[in-house]
Amino acid sequence: MKTVPFSLSDVQNWTKEYPTPFYIYDEEGIKKCVTDLYKAFSWNKGFCEYFAVKALPNPAILRLLNKLGCGTDCASEPEIILSEKSGITGKKIMFSSNQTTLREYEIAVKSGAIINLDDITHIEFLENAGLLPETVCCRYNPGKFKNTNEIMGHLYDTKFGMTYEQLKEAFAILKQKGVKHFGIHAMLASCCLEEDYYPRLAEEIFSLVLEFKKDLGIEVEFVDLSGGIGIPYKPEEKAVDIFAVGEGVKKVYDRMIKDNGLELAIFTEMGRYITGPYGYLVTKALHYKHIYKEYIGVDASCCDLMRPAMYEAYHHITVLGKETNEAVGKFDVVGSLCENNDKFAVDRKLPHIDIGDFLVIHDAGAHGHAMGYNYNGKLRCAEFMMDKTKNIKMIRRAQTPKDYFATLDIDKEFNF
Ligand SMILES: *Cc1c(COP(=O)(O)O)cnc(C)c1O
Repeated sequence: MKTVPFSLSDVQNWTKEYPTPFYIYDEEGIKKCVTDLYKAFSWNKGFCEYFAVKALPNPAILRLLNKLGCGTDCASEPEIILSEKSGITGKKIMFSSNQTTLREYEIAVKSGAIINLDDITHIEFLENAGLLPETVCCRYNPGKFKNTNEIMGHLYDTKFGMTYEQLKEAFAILKQKGVKHFGIHAMLASCCLEEDYYPRLAEEIFSLVLEFKKDLGIEVEFVDLSGGIGIPYKPEEKAVDIFAVGEGVKKVYDRMIKDNGLELAIFTEMGRYITGPYGYLVTKALHYKHIYKEYIGVDASCCDLMRPAMYEAYHHITVLGKETNEAVGKFDVVGSLCENNDKFAVDRKLPHIDIGDFLVIHDAGAHGHAMGYNYNGKLRCAEFMMDKTKNIKMIRRAQTPKDYFATLDIDKEFNF
């Protein structure tokens, strides 16, 4: 059974001050997750987790992760600013962008971030701008890989990374142009619950490390396994054992890297795995509607959490105070957008819900608030960090109409 680390009375207290909907992040959960990750890879001297900022771009979260030793994975100017303001600077930032503008490269190079090139043509793009740094990472797309799942699609169809031939050529060119430090990056899956994903990805990349050493005389200094480790959204799914993953990568590392007298740092760029399970969207039942189906209308919408609308993603729902009540039927849990895909759940078995009940939507800590938007004039909700004593601290206030109108002057007449 999926549980919630706070109770109905906690929420009743919180809502005396703050209206629903809002996000709650469980600080202790995130801490333990990161601590375990570092333990699982403690055999690797240079190990670093570069948290994918896009998953949860909040400075309170980044400051916490910085304290735990993490860097960040960024793909835009605001993500770099956010990292730096949170104390994460220089090589603790991995700039893994694609279709990058010159301005973004200028900012990333100036910040001292590690630049991860998505395409071979970007070498010339950077060189022409006088921006080619001493450390360069290249993103690899092998075209096929046994472990890819549906969100990422077939790798032939994904826009990311370089082919094998391009990657090898890119390394030869970069060496010739005076680049001194090299890394290889690959992300070949999304939300993968198989413990052998990282080990098999590592094996694939390590074979390139050995080949580039032999053929090009390049010693790759780091391998970035990127993100892709999944979390159990459904109650019947099992969480990934991160210690088994670390042990699996170690075996491949020892055989292919260590036994060949080499050494390199392992990096990860997880987002979902780090914060996903520790974020909760709290919303209130507003209306019950009975037409051809049964609907529970809530005060959150897919502007607050768009994964169900976008990918038909499953998010578990707990009705607070009714955790052990029997299901009384199937319901669609819906938001207020003028869009029929604005549903958090379809045909979900739920206990009897009274108007005013609090519903907790699980696993909303990654790509949740981050993917929020303002469609239908919906204002983005607040975010709170919860400590181990169940005290909450606001880490982002809810938007107001003034924020919504911030990019235009509605009181002025425009003459087009
Ligand atoms: C999205 C992304 C990640 C994080 O992926 P998760 O599935 O959240 O772990 C890491 N690296 C890059 C380049 C990404 O685009």
